[in-house]
Amino acid sequence: ILSPGVPMEAPIVKLAREKGIKILAEIEIAFDQCEAPVLAITGTNGKTTTTTLVGEIFKRAGWNSLVAGNIGIAFSEIVDQAKGEKAVVVLEVSSFQLDAIDTFRPKVSAILNITPDHLDRYKNYEAYIQSKFRIFENQKGHDVFVYNHDDETVRNVAETVSVRTLGFSLKEELKQGAYLQGEDIVLRIGREKEVLMNRAEIGILGPHNLMNAMAAALMTRTLGIEFEAIRETLRTFQGVEHRIEFVRELNGVKYYNDSKATNVDSVYYALGSFAEPIVLIAGGKDKGNDYAKIKDLV
Ligand code: ADP
Repeated sequence: ILSPGVPMEAPIVKLAREKGIKILAEIEIAFDQCEAPVLAITGTNGKTTTTTLVGEIFKRAGWNSLVAGNIGIAFSEIVDQAKGEKAVVVLEVSSFQLDAIDTFRPKVSAILNITPDHLDRYKNYEAYIQSKFRIFENQKGHDVFVYNHDDETVRNVAETVSVRTLGFSLKEELKQGAYLQGEDIVLRIGREKEVLMNRAEIGILGPHNLMNAMAAALMTRTLGIEFEAIRETLRTFQGVEHRIEFVRELNGVKYYNDSKATNVDSVYYALGSFAEPIVLIAGGKDKGNDYAKIKDLV
């Protein structure tokens, strides 16, 4: 059973494979034991925020909502609580976890976006993309795949998926999914078309969080969660710590902690989330990224 911290290319993993020993992800083992429906969320950015949102929406709707995975609590740690009529598991899933799945089949899966990251661990960008696509490989029947319609890589693959797909877009009206009508967020699922809320009512800042909110709304509404539970959660949710987290205001300067912005795209969205002039303090480990995208912004 492979920890997501250990690359598939590690010598010991290779050796095991050569010896014909089966290698499985921890989420695979837990999934095998799980009685409750599983919702799984991946993407380069926004996983923790969206997973937390989905978990909170279910909780508000009165479900026994269990949040686990890459977010910090192992799926196998909570799997024995995932029992009973209103139990549901909301999983944050990383590409590293998806690398070693076998039959893992979420009822609802989501890919929030794919931009370059972890190029220190994958052979190339394509390999990283392919690993994310594994989230829906076992889906069938009435399962649902939620995807970012504005992300070309994700949109192109969505067209090839055999299960029902629901997109979300800030740019265009969709036949199925979430989109903007002026300042209103519209959800269109099956024959239902309803205004969810005004985008300004959402408690968390920035266009990226609007997309996260749309994804969370689609994932829960498609399972029949009432609009009111979705709206109330999106209105009151204050975000997760270290993600454009407001620290304090001192002498007219507002301080934000965005230390979870560990790749180019997340910094791009952070810099676009404020109207005021920004002093940026950045640093950290280079994972083989191309910084050209944020050169002008910085
Ligand atoms: P993850 O779990 O995928 O790392 P988080 O929700 O923890 O995602 O957010 C990580 C960083 O990415 C934060 O800096 C956050 O502001 C930014 N972020 C959140 N959602 C998105 C998104 N949809 N697109 C781009 N950046 C995002």
